[in-house]
Amino acid sequence: MATEGSLDGAFVLRWVRGSAGSLREQRDFLTQLDAAIGDADHGVNMDRGFAQAVAKLDGSSDVGPGALLELVGTTLVLSVGGAAGPLYGSALREMGRTLGDAPTFDGESLLTLLRAALDEVQRLGAATTGDKTMVDALVPAIDGLERGLRGGEPLRQALARASEGADGGAQATIPMQARKGRASYLGPRSVGHQDPGATSLALLIAALGAAAEAEP
Ligand code: ADP
Ligand code: MG
Repeated sequence: MATEGSLDGAFVLRWVRGSAGSLREQRDFLTQLDAAIGDADHGVNMDRGFAQAVAKLDGSSDVGPGALLELVGTTLVLSVGGAAGPLYGSALREMGRTLGDAPTFDGESLLTLLRAALDEVQRLGAATTGDKTMVDALVPAIDGLERGLRGGEPLRQALARASEGADGGAQATIPMQARKGRASYLGPRSVGHQDPGATSLALLIAALGAAAEAEP
């Protein structure tokens, strides 16, 4: 992807570190959500995976943003069990591959990367909106970012829209009946609980906004 912009490897580092921080903070909450409709490991899985990713990144200087995203993705695939780890890991790897060797990128590219992540999650997990998964937070995040960028808003503002979209999407999973993943085994008993993966996805989108805010 040949592109130029203000986002770079340092932005990716801020994003991944910020994500690791909020996943650590929210670990018990995510695990409680997963205890209600799954097997109570989502917070622990995500915390462990992102902590390992940060450790890997700390040892890799002079690497472009695409390679960093691929490294994080591979670390998640290898270190996180369950459904979400491989889905998140493959999605991040796909973002990295899509970005390629570009040293910097812009908001439009970020939109392309998030779309690539969604395509990968759907290719692997076959979930669509309404199935009560991370897809229900990712789709409105992408829509929010797109709306902001099309409206000519600065990236920070467009990312705030993305974050609102993701939060709303995660909340909207509460009345849904799960049709994918472990929660689907519960059938109608999955109704009335917020999906853990949609919730962690919203944390990652909020961290994107914070990483852009912190731009020097
Ligand atoms: P597991 O369910 O294997 O214990 P986690 O608890 O880490 O894995 O992750 C559960 C989350 O994974 C769910 O809340 C949901 O958002 C997401 N998920 C599960 N299956 C799918 C799928 N097929 N597509 C997208 N997301 C999925
Ligand atoms: Mg689980």
